[in-house]
Amino acid sequence: MNIKICGLRESKNIKQIAALKPDFLGFIFYEKSKRVVKKLDKSILKYLPDSIKTVAVFVNQDLEEVTEIMNYYGFDYAQIHGNESPEYCKSLFLENIKIIKAFGIDESFDFYKLNEYKDFCEFFLFDTKDINYGGSGKTFNWEILNKYNIQKPFFLSGGIGLDNIDKVLKFKHPMLSGIDLNSKLETSYGYKSKEKTNKIIKIIHMKYIEPDNNGYYGEYGGAFIPEMLYPNVKELQDNYLEIINSENFVSEYASLLNDYAGRPTPLFYSESLSKKYSANIFIKREDLNHTGSHKLNNTLGQVLLAKKLNKKRVIAETGAGQHGVATATACALAEISCTIYMGEKDIKRQANNVDRMKLLGAEIVAADGGSKSLKDAINHAIREWINNPVDTYYLLGSIVGPHPYPDMVTRFQSVISREIKQQLKTKTGSEDPDYVIACIGGGSNAIGAFYHFINNEKTKLIAVEAGGKGVNSGKTAASITLGKKGIIHGSKTYLMQTEDGQIVEPHSVSAGLDYPGIGPAHAYLYDTNSIEVTSVVDKEALDAAFDFSKKEGIIPALESAHALAYLNKMKFKKNDVVVVNLSGRGEKDMEIYQEYLKDNNCKN
Ligand SMILES: *Cc1c(COP(=O)(O)O)cnc(C)c1O
Repeated sequence: MNIKICGLRESKNIKQIAALKPDFLGFIFYEKSKRVVKKLDKSILKYLPDSIKTVAVFVNQDLEEVTEIMNYYGFDYAQIHGNESPEYCKSLFLENIKIIKAFGIDESFDFYKLNEYKDFCEFFLFDTKDINYGGSGKTFNWEILNKYNIQKPFFLSGGIGLDNIDKVLKFKHPMLSGIDLNSKLETSYGYKSKEKTNKIIKIIHMKYIEPDNNGYYGEYGGAFIPEMLYPNVKELQDNYLEIINSENFVSEYASLLNDYAGRPTPLFYSESLSKKYSANIFIKREDLNHTGSHKLNNTLGQVLLAKKLNKKRVIAETGAGQHGVATATACALAEISCTIYMGEKDIKRQANNVDRMKLLGAEIVAADGGSKSLKDAINHAIREWINNPVDTYYLLGSIVGPHPYPDMVTRFQSVISREIKQQLKTKTGSEDPDYVIACIGGGSNAIGAFYHFINNEKTKLIAVEAGGKGVNSGKTAASITLGKKGIIHGSKTYLMQTEDGQIVEPHSVSAGLDYPGIGPAHAYLYDTNSIEVTSVVDKEALDAAFDFSKKEGIIPALESAHALAYLNKMKFKKNDVVVVNLSGRGEKDMEIYQEYLKDNNCKN
């Protein structure tokens, strides 16, 4: 969601607000406005962060005056806010000036006439109709915009502030691409409060769990990478949003999810669990996604992105092999070459997945350094990426790593909660459950299951970490519960580390949760009390897996069994609606299940 702060004029205030990194900053050049810029210091625009686009606002002004101001200051956009004609916009368009055309909206507004403007403008901006052309501090009835069905993104404007931002964020329109903020953030005309602006930007970002332009979720995230990786990561940062939001990508990706992966995955009402816990328990069946887990949602998206970036080869690392198999699958389908790095130990431990990847045409490379496991595989893959920046795409499997990976993977996994909403609406009449529960390793299935419920007051979001042999046993993977702030794999987040900052080897019975860190978005959601984080130990997860298999005829992945196990520790009200995200199926865990059966003398 783009955030535009409009109506600034004083150098000191411009610097303060720019430091908060909105996406657009607007300066008003209309003489009659109370916020008109008097003497705008041209040099200050040069020192704004690159990511901020600058906008000059005009009302019914001469074309020459507009062109002159645009050229003198080098603004990125002209916002045309009066009764200007389509021909007027066309003239500016022909001068290579990018246009935001604003319209005052009331009940009688004729959206059809916007067709004459749309080819000359980058965005429309819909403001409250007002004789002074904006800045009135009043809102209009946004429902009117349901009549707007042109394929041109727009900004919503008019009286938006901290008192009504919640309502704005509940308003949904497929073409809504930005929020324009002005008078409600002011301490005096043209002077914006740093505190209010900071607060509202944070609220808007988190509603969509979007990082800022540098990849930060609050203080977490970012891109802490070696100099030599910079060009590779920058290429992704600069291109990912435009590509994955393009019409062409959206429709190709949607048909891959539907026709190849088998989405939507069912939302199953579990009678036995509902009876046992006296609540309405639904299971989101990501185990029925092709290859047996949610991971394919991400790999199909990233491989499609790699193709659009003209990459010739995909590399990835894998620990237990699930991400490797999902990557090899997406690459086979896309006919793109695939190399998977794996620790030597893991190659031996995960022979079945290694064979699957080979069958799918992937090359497996053994990383032989260090402890011969996941960490060494990551190092090896990164070296390979540095050496082949032009033709190679590095595909990460969870919402971890440097910006833009956490945001990109979040977007690809968000399909899970989008479907849950629609399915619940059909099954219960309401799209918002009381609880969503998901297991959390790096955090990708959890963020996918939570995404569309964040900041929804009704729905509680519960992330279940792997307690291992016990949170205080020294053999655990409860990275948030125990974690301290630090940097891992290019991003700042919570991780398990010793006093002097050495990363602690994690332990969990489930290989997929065996990660010492957590995605930066979850670190922020945790700090802001938007999610609850808890844990269950190995034995509880194993018991839940056995119980669920026998009662429902579904063998869950050990990771997912952590989410199921947490049901035991909760107290529900009679009509509570609960969704458990079943991230994957359990065939891959049969060896562990067999051992557990033996240890328990087959009493099952
Ligand atoms: C990989 C995996 C996980 C853990 O990864 P997240 O990024 O935390 O979702 C969970 N469940 C299954 C089935 C997995 O394969």
